[in-house]
Amino acid sequence: MADAFEEETEQTVTLNEYLDEVEDQELEADLVLGGDEGKECTYGKGYMKRQAIFSCLTCVPEGNAGVCTACSLSCHDGHEIIELWTKRKFRCDCGNSKFGEFFCKLSVSKDIENEENSYNHNFKGKYCTCGRPYPDPDAEEQVEMIQCCLCEDWFHEEHLGLDSADKLQIPRDEEGEPLYEDLICHMCSPICSFLTLYPQTIWAAHQQPNTATPSKEKGVQTAPSASGSSPMSEGGTSQLLTVDHPAVPDNKSKSVNRDVDMILGEKSDACLLGVDLFSAELTSEKNQPMFLARNWREALCGCGKCSEFYVKKGISFLLDKEDSIAEYEKVAQQKRDEKMQQQEGAELNFLSNLGHVEKMEILSGIADMKDEIRSFLQSYDASKPITSEDIHQVFDNLKKRRRTE
Ligand SMILES: [Zn+2]
Ligand SMILES: [Zn+2]
Ligand SMILES: [Zn+2]
Ligand SMILES: [Zn+2]
Ligand SMILES: [Zn+2]
Ligand SMILES: [Zn+2]
Repeated sequence: MADAFEEETEQTVTLNEYLDEVEDQELEADLVLGGDEGKECTYGKGYMKRQAIFSCLTCVPEGNAGVCTACSLSCHDGHEIIELWTKRKFRCDCGNSKFGEFFCKLSVSKDIENEENSYNHNFKGKYCTCGRPYPDPDAEEQVEMIQCCLCEDWFHEEHLGLDSADKLQIPRDEEGEPLYEDLICHMCSPICSFLTLYPQTIWAAHQQPNTATPSKEKGVQTAPSASGSSPMSEGGTSQLLTVDHPAVPDNKSKSVNRDVDMILGEKSDACLLGVDLFSAELTSEKNQPMFLARNWREALCGCGKCSEFYVKKGISFLLDKEDSIAEYEKVAQQKRDEKMQQQEGAELNFLSNLGHVEKMEILSGIADMKDEIRSFLQSYDASKPITSEDIHQVFDNLKKRRRTE
């Protein structure tokens, strides 16, 4: 008997736990959708800096097309859809030449193709260097994958090219929570070998890989140390950017702004690294993934020469704050908070706009419902589970009660 009881308690989910879980799932969905309500096709917005993208294998089995949230809901309902999380610089393909005879219901006139879109194997439902699907039907346990912030593919930990002999490991705390903000996978890290010239502050939990070294023959200076006088010292960049504080009185803020302009102007001319990345031959013995700390992108040098280098390597998005997932999720969270506040406000407004009679009606309705639930609980056999039929019965009784009044 005691055993049976224990089993029962294990399986039971309280209403609060259930609601918390629903809330978590809603939050996660809202963060991926970035506050997009999913009502309009985003094609008109062009190549968006970041948006949630879906691949429809029913319409495009080749897996080389992607559609926006609204199209996934309105145009591809019931189709075999792959959720791709978010992708950068993507324009909705729904109904273009890749879709044959199929037309988009939301935004009909589209170019034949979106030439600037890029499609990795995720669009075919494959991930990582192993090319497995997610969730993987052959895997005993679904392990979380990590997304590379450059190629945006997802990777299994054990397929990141880390062998046990390497000192480099995925930075995590004791509970296994990641201590890094971004991953650059082992396939992309050669493009970013210049990052090894930056000080410890950009690396997650002192994970700076030591494999890349600037070649000495070309007379390249070594990376500046993170000493107090260096512009790269901890918090240096963010301090400069927060000087323009709204609390500063007007007349003062003008001169402060001028100072900031001067500093920022200086910053864009003088290279923080003091290294010409084009001539710096950075060699690495082995391709290793890179794990980067919070706000690492803010530390990147934006001087003319470095910016040119980023463009050449196709990574200039790294200088764009809005490109990062952290920023995308921050904006999504703000939109979500606003929405929740509006909802709460609407509910309060609704109640305060009601006349006395309506208010009493609602209150007596709530009292009736409480009564009905109470009498149900009193008559209810505690050894049996509550079924949906029981719940329907409660509401049927409630209806009858309202009608007879
Ligand atoms: Zn669309
Ligand atoms: Zn479809
Ligand atoms: Zn569509
Ligand atoms: Zn893998
Ligand atoms: Zn990558
Ligand atoms: Zn620079």
